Parts: sequence; structure tokens; C-alpha cells
Amino acid sequence: MRVTGSKRRRYFAGVALLLGMPAGVVAATAPATDDTAQLFARADDIKMAHNDVYVTLIAQLESRAAKLSDADKWHLRYLEAWQTAYLGQNDKARSMLEAVATQDPDINLREQAKATLINILGIGHRYEDAFAYLDQALDQLPQITDKNTRLHVLAEAAQLLIAAGQYDLAINYTDQILTTPSAGGYTCIGIGIKLEAEFRKGQGIDTIPSQFQQGLTECLEAGDMLAVDTIRRDMAALAMQRGKISDAIAILQNNYADVQKIHYEDLASEYNAMLAEAFWKSGDTSQAEKYAIATVDAASKSGFSEPLIKAYELLYQIARDKGDLRAALAYHEKYMIANNGHLDDTREKALAYQLVKQQVEAKKTELNELNKQNQILQLRQALDHKAVETSRLYIALLLTVLASIAFWLYRLKRSQLRFMRMARRDGLTGIFNRQHFVEEAEQSLRYAAKSMRCASLILIDLDHFKTINDTHGHITGDQVLRRAVAVCQRHLHSCDVFGRLGGEEFGILLPECSAENAIERAEQLRIAIHAAPVDDSVPVTISASLGIASTVHHSYDLRGLLAAADEALYRAKRDGRNRVVINIASYSPASAGAAKTNGLEATDHASNTSSDGESLDYAAEK
Ligand code: GH3
Ligand code: MG
Ligand code: MG
Repeated sequence: MRVTGSKRRRYFAGVALLLGMPAGVVAATAPATDDTAQLFARADDIKMAHNDVYVTLIAQLESRAAKLSDADKWHLRYLEAWQTAYLGQNDKARSMLEAVATQDPDINLREQAKATLINILGIGHRYEDAFAYLDQALDQLPQITDKNTRLHVLAEAAQLLIAAGQYDLAINYTDQILTTPSAGGYTCIGIGIKLEAEFRKGQGIDTIPSQFQQGLTECLEAGDMLAVDTIRRDMAALAMQRGKISDAIAILQNNYADVQKIHYEDLASEYNAMLAEAFWKSGDTSQAEKYAIATVDAASKSGFSEPLIKAYELLYQIARDKGDLRAALAYHEKYMIANNGHLDDTREKALAYQLVKQQVEAKKTELNELNKQNQILQLRQALDHKAVETSRLYIALLLTVLASIAFWLYRLKRSQLRFMRMARRDGLTGIFNRQHFVEEAEQSLRYAAKSMRCASLILIDLDHFKTINDTHGHITGDQVLRRAVAVCQRHLHSCDVFGRLGGEEFGILLPECSAENAIERAEQLRIAIHAAPVDDSVPVTISASLGIASTVHHSYDLRGLLAAADEALYRAKRDGRNRVVINIASYSPASAGAAKTNGLEATDHASNTSSDGESLDYAAEK
């Protein structure tokens, strides 16, 4: 790549100034042609490699301007704008490029113009404008049909994003370049920019050496000496990072003459600054000073670059070590100014990136909003036109929606009911669990209290159940529980509330049941349980003790009734089991013919029936 003049510069320590098609190995002389299309094609090919020839081609095209088609006229305007940018007349180039970027009907030329704009805006530190164009160009990327235009946009995107510190994004765009088949000289540029991004990010350092080789091969083949020398600069930087100072010096010195030859001042000052640093590190102060001064000489026109900062820093250190405090102070001051200027510039790039990103986001949201409003408007119009059909459609839609909601609600209800049932039932026996028994019994008692009707509560506890478990096993125990429940259920009325209160204890609330009736029904239950058949599943005669409390003697409060019935049950157990005891703490003597013992009444039935009881303690007691 040959660069004439020294006005142009890169806006970051990147790979190359991209003003379009990379150099390539293009012959300066080509067969003269009269064909306009060929003139354009040749101009595109040659503009960087042989700019002098390019200028004559433009002149040739300009001379036939009157005969050119509109599309060709736009193309010529772009070539002229490019040349203006190439000469470093950035303000003039900007307005020429903006005309092409906004008015040219051909998208490829429009995007080429934008890519060139991005480049010169970056060089001119107009980062916000550069990012704004970049955003537009990236938006258009899928519509670009010309491969070189697309590659040009991608390369500019990657370069500008590196400048803003967005290395991952930059790598993403270089990967798009590198996966493009036959990308020509852009492969070299893509590798170079990617290496730059990875190197700056400090990532993949281990794989970088092999990538360097690949990059060198590609770029040498493409004849892009700027890229070649830039990669060599990065190789030297890596060697420095790894403490191989003499390697770094060798790379830099071997290619120093090459770099001078391509007249690319930023790269030259980077080589100088790096050599200065390398010599300083190796202890060769005089060489370090020589290259630092060369850096300052070459870089001072380029604003506050990294090499300049490095050079001032080194010169300050060298002067200080020499004891030349006046010079040290002067260099330090220059170092600070350059450093601050560079920091400001870096900050500005990052800020511009964020700013444009946010503006774009805001715009997108606004556009979305407008789009929605538009859609609503269109819908309304459609409704006007097809009011009848639409309303029919809506009714059908509505009905479908309603039907599916109803179906959904039905299923929801059904599963809710299933869960509620599961939550209320005892898993083993299927009757109410304790909590639900309490709820139901309380409700029944409230109703009884309101209607001034009596109710009774029976507590049933199987006798010596633990022994059954211990002797016959838990499974048999479970079977016994189920058998006892089944027997009880046969003797229950529909309004009775039956529940398992725990282990082998059950409760039955009998609404509209007097104390006498309760005793009678408890007796029936006791006899039935005791008479349950002995078979394989229940290989033992079972018995139960029953305690009764009635609202005749106690309040309608379930807790009070439970406590009273429990007291009676305890008494039944103590008196020998397999019996019924009623708690008649406030029992009126006139109301029944049972003998009263501490308010607890053991029924005659119990002793009658238990006389033939063959099981357990009670029988033994008898
Ligand atoms: P008592 O005649 O004094 O009532 O004596 P008991 O052995 O029946 O009473 P205890 O309270 O000592 O033992 C009850 C046993 O019931 C203890 C426990 O392991 C057993 N049990 C509780 N729930 C279950 C169950 O769901 N299945 C089985 N198989 N056993 C249970
Ligand atoms: Mg018990
Ligand atoms: Mg028991």
C-alpha cells in the first residue's frame, strides 16, 4: 500500500486505513480501454495501489460526463469524493460523500460512501457522527449485494469498534469478513483487525503467534505491506510482553527500513516508540533516547498517540536518571498533556459509542410505537370495509375464546375438587381426616345448637392395637383399621360425621341423637367390631373401647365434647376395654336408668357383650 502525503493517519493503533478496496497486486499499466464500465472497474481496483493512474482514470471519466448514465454519474461522484478523502481534505470529502450516501439510488455505492465517511470521521475525531453512520451502515448490511462493499463496511465497523473498546463486537465483524469466501485482500485486513482486537483484549495470547504467521502469509500475498508491518509490530509487542526484549528489538529493527519505505507515519512512530522502550528495558539508554526522540519527531503532528505518550515518559525517565531535572520536568509535563489528551480521546470514543447506541434504541422504540399506531389505524380501516364479516368473525372468535375459557375453568375446578377431596380424606381408610372431621362436626353442632336439637359424639379406640401390629405386622394392622372402618360405616346414618382422629382412634358425630340413642348405637358398633370375621387378612378378633359425650350433658362446643368423650374412653380402657362408657358429668338422674360413677357411666351392654369376648384384657378381667 502506497501512501502519498503525510496528512492521513489512522485513528487508532489499528491495522490500516481503509478507504475501500485493499491494495492487492494491481498492475499500474493496463490495456487502454474506451469502455466506461471497464474504466470504472479499473478505477476501483487501482485507486490505492496506483493513485496517480487512478487520477487519470477519473479525469478520463469526467471528460465523458455528459454521456454517462445517471448511475455512472453517481459512481463518478463517489470516486471523486474518495480521492478527496484520500488527499486528506476531509471536510470537503465529507460533504461529497454525504451526498452519495443519502441520494445515490444504488445501495452499494451509498454504503461504500458511508464506509468511507466512517473512516474519515473517525480520523477527524468526530466519533459520534462516525458511530451514527456505522449504525446506518450495519442496518443496511443484509441488503448490500456487492461483496466488496459489504467487506468494506464490516472492516470499518470492526476498526471503529476497536477504537471504542468494543473488542468482542469487533471480533464478531472480523469473523464475518474471514468467513466470506474469496474475500481477496480483505482476508489480510480481517486477520489484522481481529489480531488487534484480540491483542488489545488480552485474550487468546497463546494462539496469537500462529495467527500472526497466517496473517503475515495472507497479507504478503495480498501485497499489503502496511498490514504486514503492523502484524510485525504486534509480534514485537507480544515478545516484549513475554520479556523477550532482544527478540522484540530484532523484529523491529529488521523491518524498520520497510516501515520507513511505506511512509506511514503512525506506524513509523510506533516502531520508534517500541524500540525506545525495548532498549530502555535492556539498559541501553542512549539507543532508547535516540528512538524516543525519533518518535516525538514523527508523531508530534498526529495528536496524542500512544507512541508519543510512551516516548515522553521514557525521555522523562532518561532525563531524570541523568540528573537533568529541568529536562525531566519539561518531558513530564509533555507526558502529562499527551496522556490526558489521549485519555480524553479514548473516553470520547467510548462515550460516542454509548450515546449513539442509546439514541438508536430510543429511535427504535419510537418507531415501534409508530408502527403499532399504524397497525391499529389499518385495523380500523379494515373493520370499516368489512364490518359485517369482521364482526361475525369476532363473534365466532369470542365464542371460541369463551368456550375454551369455560373448558379451562371446568378442568381447573375439577382438579381443585380432586385436590380438596384428597386433602380432606385419610389416605388409609378413605374417611374424613381429623381436620375435616373437626370442620364438619363443628358445622353439624352449630346447626344442632341453632335448632335446639341434641347431638352426640362417640370416640372409638381399638384395643391393644399395638400388640396386633407387633404380633402380625404393620400391614395386618392397616388391614384391621380398614376392617374396623368398614364395619362402622355399615352402621352409620347418612347425616353422621365419621373421621379418623389419629392412629387407631375414630370419631363419630351423631346429629339429632340423644344420649340413650348414642349408647345404643355405640353398643351396636362395639358388637359389630368385635364380631368382625377372622380371616387371612385380619387373623385376629378385634375389639374397641368407646367413649360418649352428648350435648344433653355438655355444651355444643366440639372441643368440650371431645374432651368429655375422651374421658369416658379412658375410663372404658381402664375398666377393661371392649366396652362403652358415657360421660354424664351433668347428667340428670331422671333421664336414664344407668348407675352413675363420677359422672361416667359404663353401660350394661358392655359387660353383657364382653362376657363372651374372647380377646384381650377385657376377657381376662371377666
Ligand atoms: P389401647 O388398648 O390402650 O388402646 O392400646 P393400643 O396398643 O391400641 O394403643 P397404643 O396407643 O399404645 O398403640 C397404638 C398403635 O397404633 C401405635 C402405633 O404404632 C399404631 N398405629 C398408629 N397408626 C397406625 C397405622 O396407620 N397403621 C398401623 N398398622 N398402626 C398404626
Ligand atoms: Mg389410641
Ligand atoms: Mg388403642
